[in-house]
Amino acid sequence: MRYFKCGKCKAPYKIDPAKFKSPKLEVICPKCSTRNVLTLGPVLSIQQEGKFAQVGLKNGVQVIGRKTEKPNVNGHILISDEYVSRIHAKVFMEFREEKVFFFIEDLGSLNGTYNKNKQRLKEGIRYPFIPGDFFIVGLTKISIQINS
Ligand SMILES: [Zn+2]
Repeated sequence: MRYFKCGKCKAPYKIDPAKFKSPKLEVICPKCSTRNVLTLGPVLSIQQEGKFAQVGLKNGVQVIGRKTEKPNVNGHILISDEYVSRIHAKVFMEFREEKVFFFIEDLGSLNGTYNKNKQRLKEGIRYPFIPGDFFIVGLTKISIQINS
């Protein structure tokens, strides 16, 4: 659950971000009736020493891989990290009964994908990727956040 403030009267209201399929959400303020447009969206946070980036997640499957000199493959999430394989892992975003679910799967990467308990994921198996949780690919920490 997240809290948003009305842009006009600053009244707070609660929203369950897992319930919205669209990245844009319209909310009518219960206090002053102002229409607020909130941009919600799941992002993959990519954290490295001294660096931080966020990439929007799309419905379906996205491949995580190492950024190389070669032209970018459309739709792939590319990470500048020499310990990340060119095709490293997949992130899934799926909707079921109005809720969003995320999964991660290692694609046979050389250095592996690890969970927060430093356990290596088995290749080809989907693991739940819960927002706020993190995984390690190479020297990079990845997590999912649902932005307001
Ligand atoms: Zn208001």
